[in-house]
Amino acid sequence: MIFDIEKETMPREDLKKLQLSRLQDLCSRIYYNVPFYKKKFDELGVKPADIRSLDDLKRLPFTTKQDLRDNYPYGLFAVPLDNIERIHASSGTTGKAVVDGYTRRDVATWAELVARGLTMAGATASDIVHVAYGYGLFTGGLGAHYGAERIGATVVPMSGGATRRQVQLLRDFGATVLCCTPSYANYLYEAAVDQGIDIAKLPLRVGVFGAEPWTDEMRQDMERKMGISAHNIYGLSEVMGPGVAMDCEEKNGMHIHEDHFIAEIIDPETCEVLPEGSTGELVLTTITKQGMPLLRYRTRDITSLDHTLCHCGRTTARMTRITGRSDDMLIIRGVNLFPSQVESILMEKEGLASTYQLVVDREGPLDTLEVQVELIEGMFSDEVKAMQEQEVRVRKKIKEFLGVTAKVTFVAPHSIKRSEGKAVRIIDKRKM
Ligand code: AMP
Ligand code: ZN
Repeated sequence: MIFDIEKETMPREDLKKLQLSRLQDLCSRIYYNVPFYKKKFDELGVKPADIRSLDDLKRLPFTTKQDLRDNYPYGLFAVPLDNIERIHASSGTTGKAVVDGYTRRDVATWAELVARGLTMAGATASDIVHVAYGYGLFTGGLGAHYGAERIGATVVPMSGGATRRQVQLLRDFGATVLCCTPSYANYLYEAAVDQGIDIAKLPLRVGVFGAEPWTDEMRQDMERKMGISAHNIYGLSEVMGPGVAMDCEEKNGMHIHEDHFIAEIIDPETCEVLPEGSTGELVLTTITKQGMPLLRYRTRDITSLDHTLCHCGRTTARMTRITGRSDDMLIIRGVNLFPSQVESILMEKEGLASTYQLVVDREGPLDTLEVQVELIEGMFSDEVKAMQEQEVRVRKKIKEFLGVTAKVTFVAPHSIKRSEGKAVRIIDKRKM
């Protein structure tokens, strides 16, 4: 099944023409409405009218997460606040979260694109869609919700947490489609086993999993034990939320909705655009977004693009599974986290040393985080109780400011291995 046969199966030549006219329109909109972009264009000596082919995209400036933070909260909006219908923000950041604003049309487009994705996964109006992505500022819950409504399915807006109850309702309501992170799906599976429920025997038949990296082996394992077809969905709050790309029944890469996004792959070091098929950092330009359009947004996600025709009949490019990031962002139980954020809590709020390490692992289906902090010479207290109290305090602050539950362990001075180059801040023991 194809949701929008005209757009999803457009001949590539027509698609490129559409992309160009939308890109030209985008350039005028941001040049005249967003001072940040006007300045960038002017610095490069480019005017919107200079964009005559898709190749001219290369001449345009990039946008980074830092630019979004510098323009917090509304600096990159391209329409007056009166026309913004919705605000979302990414998880895990203090104060300067990354904010996105949607006009009414943006919300409608978002629903449309998630609807396309759900259709690719095989969902239809007859399905009961259990949404266990978090609802709220995070885009996962509402994004999946609107997409499911758009295809005419029955939606169960469960949100995250309350795992025991989730399992019961999955069974009682007879959900046929489950939307959540792959690790949470695994957790639900194990919780069901504990409750004596075999998910494979329930009506559940489709999984729409994303928001964090997972492997094809994990997919196969989940399909087998849960008796479902598991699909990969990709998105990011800055660009829209879930539904930027989704894999079809072929599961040979995620179709990018190229009538709304232009995708490029760059070398993260030199920022040069790489030839077709290369692996590098994904850069996305939102060509239809009104509220907060982004030009050449550096996602930091590492992938490659395949432009060959897919057997499903869609003509859009497919991105391979994300294999990593070109920065040090971690995703722990769905929360985005940078080591520097932990560092600022350790140093500014607690006056601790700057030598620390984040040890990430997976216990069963769930990510665990241990923050090992080296004590400064002379601080190694003989008083076990006092140290334990401080560990608890740091743990609480990490939870409060970053939204992640971590184990905090103080270690003796000089016990963390020094590196000769960049400090090794992350030890990721999860098998990805
Ligand atoms: P957020 O803005 O909090 O939704 O986080 C977006 C980030 O989550 C992306 O930039 C990716 O790093 C990651 N992500 C989202 N979907 C996937 C996916 N299907 N596979 C791997 N990583 C993903
Ligand atoms: Zn396909």
